[in-house]
Amino acid sequence: MLSPLSLFLLSFLILLHPTLARPNDPPTVCIIGSGIGGSSVAHFLRRYSSGPFSIQIFERNGVVGGRMATVNVSGDIFEAGASVLHPKNFYALNYTQSLGLKFKTPSSSSSNSLSLGIWDGKKFAFKTLLVRSDLPFVDKIVSLANSLLMFLRYGFSLLRMETFVETTVDRFLKYYGSLESRPLFETVDGMLQWAGLYNLTTRTLQEELVDARLSPLLIQELVTVITRINYGQSVFINGLAGAVSLAGSGGGLWAVEGGNWQMAAGLINRSDAALHLHEKIESISYLGDYYELNSTLGNSYTCDVVVVATPLDESNIQFTPQISIPKRKLQHTHATFVRGLLNPGYFGLDAVSEIPELVGTIEDPDLPFSSISVLKQHGEKDMTYKIFSRKRMANVLLDSIFSVRQVTIRINWGAYPHYNAPEVFASFILDGRHLYYVNAFENAASTMETSAVAAENIARLIISRFFNQLPLTSANMSSDSGEQILHLDL
Ligand SMILES: Cc1cc2nc3c(=O)[nH]c(=O)nc-3n(C[C@H](O)[C@H](O)[C@H](O)COP(=O)(O)OP(=O)(O)OC[C@H]3O[C@@H](n4cnc5c(N)ncnc54)[C@H](O)[C@@H]3O)c2cc1C
Repeated sequence: MLSPLSLFLLSFLILLHPTLARPNDPPTVCIIGSGIGGSSVAHFLRRYSSGPFSIQIFERNGVVGGRMATVNVSGDIFEAGASVLHPKNFYALNYTQSLGLKFKTPSSSSSNSLSLGIWDGKKFAFKTLLVRSDLPFVDKIVSLANSLLMFLRYGFSLLRMETFVETTVDRFLKYYGSLESRPLFETVDGMLQWAGLYNLTTRTLQEELVDARLSPLLIQELVTVITRINYGQSVFINGLAGAVSLAGSGGGLWAVEGGNWQMAAGLINRSDAALHLHEKIESISYLGDYYELNSTLGNSYTCDVVVVATPLDESNIQFTPQISIPKRKLQHTHATFVRGLLNPGYFGLDAVSEIPELVGTIEDPDLPFSSISVLKQHGEKDMTYKIFSRKRMANVLLDSIFSVRQVTIRINWGAYPHYNAPEVFASFILDGRHLYYVNAFENAASTMETSAVAAENIARLIISRFFNQLPLTSANMSSDSGEQILHLDL
């Protein structure tokens, strides 16, 4: 039995060192955000470490996935945010396959399966052929004819654009190398420099493409259409975000059937993480040798490691002590879903069938939208469309663009960083201790895969810096601990 003096001393010690209050508890990693970034950190922590530790994930919404979200338009489910993945997005491929999810070709993408028109506000500056047929050989001929039309307009610049994109993608593939071949990165700058990608973030896409000898017409039209669709911004975004955006408009794009958010749900499930839905974290305080998180539900959590897996740009999380990160603005993209029918008169055309399935736009402040694409054709006069714009689409405007509008759903996304070259990055480690920031990488380029790649690096940082371990490699990993890097032909 302890004497009163020993009891007093013990409680005094506990007050001095609150972690003594839970001496036998395994360490706790707290993750803020259940998007692909947060769920990937949980996944890679479990995959690379065999030690006992608990993972707590906090999500302010009632569903997981963050910017991977679906929208229900009169009974049909479509991607509302992140919609397409590149065929070389190997982490996403692995997640999808190992979680038993199904691959599908997205209903809308800027790939050449859709007829494309470049709208300049008065006319279509360029249009590909629009011929729908059930006969594969007709589709093939139309596709070849469209490639020829593109070549006639943009010439060999198209090939130079392809080379620029391929070179960048090849450099990015270094991040999938073996664990032994990849250093740990405490800074985004270091991570980009190692792969030979840093310089691209110091210059605009326009500068990069001029150096790569692309014609002004290609940059002003097709390239602009793509950056406006993918990032709601012009060719003045940084060169890396630009290359990623162009890569996301090529062939072989894919998505997860039923919604990309299922990758996050599956990873969280498999990581044995405690998920706190509807729980927004308001403050993160460092209190000696642990962190305290406070939530809007009035709960406090004690964490040994904290991972912020959401952009801090519009978040009002209070940090004690304060942290300092470079200023960054988010680009807001308004996604408007309409079931109805476009008005051909708005485009100076006689029939709806003459309107391309994907209408892209050039950079002109008077243009009220970035793109309009057909998501589904229900009947000849009944379609579902997705519109991207920088501002909210007012009803009067929609009524001039559509002749029929049965259902309208609007989503205002704090979508991705407003890119600026040269980019200045926050560190992956926010306080020099165990407070980590996945979305520091996001102003290099914002995609599901780049979030996963940044998350993988952060999981390894935690294992090395907090657990003082080396990550388990494929050689010493148990057979059920995760998937291998797959290279799939889709
Ligand atoms: C319209 C649009 C189209 C896009 N298209 C593509 C595409 O086709 N392909 C592609 O690869 N990428 C695309 N992206 C980008 C992609 O969605 C993002 O890069 C990626 O999903 C980011 O994932 P994340 O986990 O880092 O952040 P998020 O998905 O934003 O996850 C952060 C999570 O944290 C939660 N959260 C925030 N603050 C708190 C708090 N205080 N407490 C608790 N929870 C909090 C949020 O609710 C959210 O769920 C698109 C994005 C948008 C908006």
